[in-house]
Amino acid sequence: MQALGECDLPRRALVALVRREVSALRAEKELPDFFTIVDRSRSAIEDLRLTKIQRVINGTGTIIHTNLGRAPLSQNAFETLAAVASGYSNLEFDLTTGERGARATYLEQNLALLCSGDAATIVNNCAAALLLVLRHFTKTKREVIISRGELIQIGGGFRIPDILEASGATLREVGTTNRTTVDDYAQAIGPETAMILKVHRSNFSMRGFVGSTDTESLARLARAKRIRLVEDLGSGAIIATEKLAGIAHEPTPAEILKSGADLVVFSGDKLFGGAQAGIVAGKARLVAALKREPFFRAVRCDKLILAALQTTVDLYLARREDAVPVVAMMRTTVGELQARARNIIDALHGLLEVPSIGSGKSQLGGGTLPGSAIPSVTLDFESERAAELAAQLRRGVPPVIGYIAGGKYKLDLRTISPAEDEQLIGAIRAATRQP
Ligand SMILES: *Cc1c(COP(=O)(O)O)cnc(C)c1O
Repeated sequence: MQALGECDLPRRALVALVRREVSALRAEKELPDFFTIVDRSRSAIEDLRLTKIQRVINGTGTIIHTNLGRAPLSQNAFETLAAVASGYSNLEFDLTTGERGARATYLEQNLALLCSGDAATIVNNCAAALLLVLRHFTKTKREVIISRGELIQIGGGFRIPDILEASGATLREVGTTNRTTVDDYAQAIGPETAMILKVHRSNFSMRGFVGSTDTESLARLARAKRIRLVEDLGSGAIIATEKLAGIAHEPTPAEILKSGADLVVFSGDKLFGGAQAGIVAGKARLVAALKREPFFRAVRCDKLILAALQTTVDLYLARREDAVPVVAMMRTTVGELQARARNIIDALHGLLEVPSIGSGKSQLGGGTLPGSAIPSVTLDFESERAAELAAQLRRGVPPVIGYIAGGKYKLDLRTISPAEDEQLIGAIRAATRQP
C-alpha cells in the first residue's frame, strides 16, 4: 500500500477531502480522539486514490470485461497512439498535395479489406453506429423489422428498442421469443418498411425449441423487397473463434457481408481487440451516405482512437494477430498457463499463504458467446481469508482483481499477461501474511 506522503493526489484535492471529513466529524455528537480522526482521513484519502482510473491486473478470467475496460490494446497500437498523441499528425492533411485531406482514409480502406466490404467507417461506439444507421435509413420510410428473439439488452442499459426509439424509427416486431422464420419477416414488410435489423444475441443463448433466420435468407428477402438488411454483430471477432480456443463459432464481419447483408456494425473493443469504436462496413454507397449525414459529425472518433485502430487492423492484415492481446489470450494453451503458474508459485516460496494450481473456466465476456468457456489455469488460495485477501489485493499496487469460488480466492492466468507476472508476484507478496 502506498504511504500517505508519496500519494499522487493533487494538494487541492487532498485539502478538499480532509475538509469534508472534518466537517462530517463536527456533525457527530461526540468528537472521536485524534488518532481516529487521522485514521479516518487516511482511509478516505486511500479510497479516493482507488477511484482514479489506473492499470489493474485482471485475474477474473473474463477476457472482455466491461467493468475492467474491455479489450486491452496491443503494444503496437499503443506505440502508434503515443506517437500520434504527443505531437501533430496528418489527421486531415494530404502529405502528397500539401492540402486539406480526408480523415482516416488508410484505416477505412484497410478495414473494408479486412471485412470483405466495399467500404467502412468508424464512429464512437457500436451503439452510436447503430443510431447513425437507423437515423439515416429511416428518414422517409420509418419502419424497422426485428425478430422478437433479438430485442435484447446488453449491459449498461443498452436496449435495442430504446436505441430504435431514440433514432426516430418505428419498431416492427416479428416472430416469437424463441422462433422467427423468413415468412415472419416477409409478411411484415409493407410500404413503410425501411430495413430489417438483425441483432447478434450477445449475452445469452437459447436452447431447446428455437429457430432464427440466417443472414443469407434475409438478404435474399431484403433484395427482393428492395429494403436494406443491417446486422449488428456486437463483438466483431476477426479470427475464427473455434480455431483459436475450441469454442463456438462467432460470426465474423466478413462472413456477414459475404452472406449478403448491406451493412454490418460491431464494436472496436470487444473481440476485435482494438480501441472503443463502432465500426460500420459494407456497401460503398451506403457508407458514403452515412458519412454525409450531419449526425455523423457528432459521433466521429478522435485521432487517438483512429491511430490505435489503424495499427490493430494492420496487425490482422499482416497475419500478426497474436500481437492483439485478446487473440493471444484466447489462443494460450493450458500447458503454457500451467508453466507460468509453476513459476509464479516458485517465486512465492516461503510465504505463509502460497497458492496452489487450480483450474477454472475463462469467459469471453462483454456480451460475446455466453455459452462458451475456455478451460483455464488458476492460482488458488485456500484460505478462510478469501474475501479479505480479495479486498487486500484490490487495494494493492497495481490492484489485482480475482474471484471467489468454492471458498477459494482464485486468479485466472489467461487474462493476466505474462508481462504482468512480476507485478502480480509483488502484489501477492504485499497482500499475504508474512511468516
Ligand atoms: C456490445 C454490443 C453493442 C454495444 O456496443 P458498444 O460498442 O458498447 O456501443 C451493440 N450491439 C451488440 C449486439 C453488442 O454485443
